Amino acid sequence: MAKDYYDTLGIQRGTSQEEIKKAYKKLAKKYHPDISKEENAEQKFKDVQHAYSVLSDDAKRRNYDQFGEQAERFGGQGGFQGFGGEGFDFSDIFEQFGFGNQGFSDIFGGGRRGPRRGEDIIFKLSLNFEDAAFGTKKEITVDRIEECDNCHGSGARPGTKIITCDVCHGSGVEKQLRRTFLGTIATQSTCRKCRGLGESVDDPCPVCSGSGREHKKKKISITIPAGIDSGNHLRLRDQGNEGEKGAIKGDLIAVIFVEPHEVFKRDGFDIFMELPISFSEAALGDDIEVPTLKGKAKLKVPSGTQSGTLFKMKEKGIQKLQRKDFGDQYVRVVVKTPEKMSKKMKELLEKLQEEEETAKNRKGIFGKLKGIFD
Ligand SMILES: [Zn+2]
Ligand SMILES: [Zn+2]
Repeated sequence: MAKDYYDTLGIQRGTSQEEIKKAYKKLAKKYHPDISKEENAEQKFKDVQHAYSVLSDDAKRRNYDQFGEQAERFGGQGGFQGFGGEGFDFSDIFEQFGFGNQGFSDIFGGGRRGPRRGEDIIFKLSLNFEDAAFGTKKEITVDRIEECDNCHGSGARPGTKIITCDVCHGSGVEKQLRRTFLGTIATQSTCRKCRGLGESVDDPCPVCSGSGREHKKKKISITIPAGIDSGNHLRLRDQGNEGEKGAIKGDLIAVIFVEPHEVFKRDGFDIFMELPISFSEAALGDDIEVPTLKGKAKLKVPSGTQSGTLFKMKEKGIQKLQRKDFGDQYVRVVVKTPEKMSKKMKELLEKLQEEEETAKNRKGIFGKLKGIFD
C-alpha cells in the first residue's frame, strides 16, 4: 500500500476530521464488499479503511504527516521484549497493522472500546558519528502528558467524591439499537460518558478540568547503544503520554539520524575513507599511519601500489549493534602529485624522469593509433 492516504480518501492534507469521516463513509459504502459492484472492491475497501484508521486518529495522523507510512512501524503495541533490561525496541520489521473493526464501529456510530491508550511520542534524535558508533547517554526534554498532580489522576477535585456514572449506571456499557445501511442492529458499546469505568466525577479537578492529566516538561535519559544507525529507532516503553484513566501509557520513540563525518563514510558497520599518499610511498611501499575510530593504526602499502587501490583493515569499523564484533575499515589510497616542490625534489624528479621508461610506453599507445598521429 504505497498510496498516499489522503489520495485514497480523495481529500486534501489539512482537511478537518469531519470531512475525513464524511469522505470515509462515502467510500466505505461505495466499496463495501457485500454491496459494491466496483472492481477490486474488497481491496479498495481495505485501503480506505486503513487510510481512515490512520487519518482519523490525531496522533497517528500527525506521525503520518511527518514520517509517512514509515510511522506505522512505530505504531503497534506488540512485539519486542526488552533490550538490556531497558525495554528498547530495535525491530526494523514492520509491525502488522491490524485493520480491526474500529472503522466499522465508526460507520455504525458505536463508541470506542474502553479508555484510550496514551499516545506515543515520536521524535527525531540526531547523533554525531562517534556517538552512534560508540554509544552514549543522551538527555532529552519532552513535553508530555502526565498524571495530574493535583488530583493524582482521578479527575475529581481533591476531597470530592467520585460517583457512579448516571448514563450506564456503573456497568460501563451502553446498549443501543442502530439503523444502518445494512439494516437495524443492536450494538453494545463502551459508555461514552465514563469510557467504561462505570464512575464519573461530580466536581472536576480545577487543574486538569477532570481529565486527570496535564502537560509537563520531563527530562529523560536515553542510553544509545554502540552501532546504532540512521533509520533505527529506540522505543522506551511507557515513557510516552499518559493514557485516559485506566489505560496504559504510550511509548517514547526516538528515530535516529546519524550526522555525516568529515573523514569516514559509513555503510552498515563498515567505514570508508580516502587516504592521500605520495608517489614515492606508492612506488616504494611503506607502513602508513591511518586514522581509525580508535586512534592511529598502521596500514602496509606494498611497493607498486596504484592510485585508487582499496585496502581492508579488519575489525576497524563500527561495533555491530547488540553484538561484540566489529565491521571493517576500508581505505582507498589516492596518489597525490606534488604541486609545490623544493629545488632538491625537482632535481630528483628530473633525474627520475631520465630513468623512466614511461615515454617509451606511451609510444606503444601512439603506435596503436597510427592512423591518427603519424
Ligand atoms: Zn487534576
Ligand atoms: Zn458510564
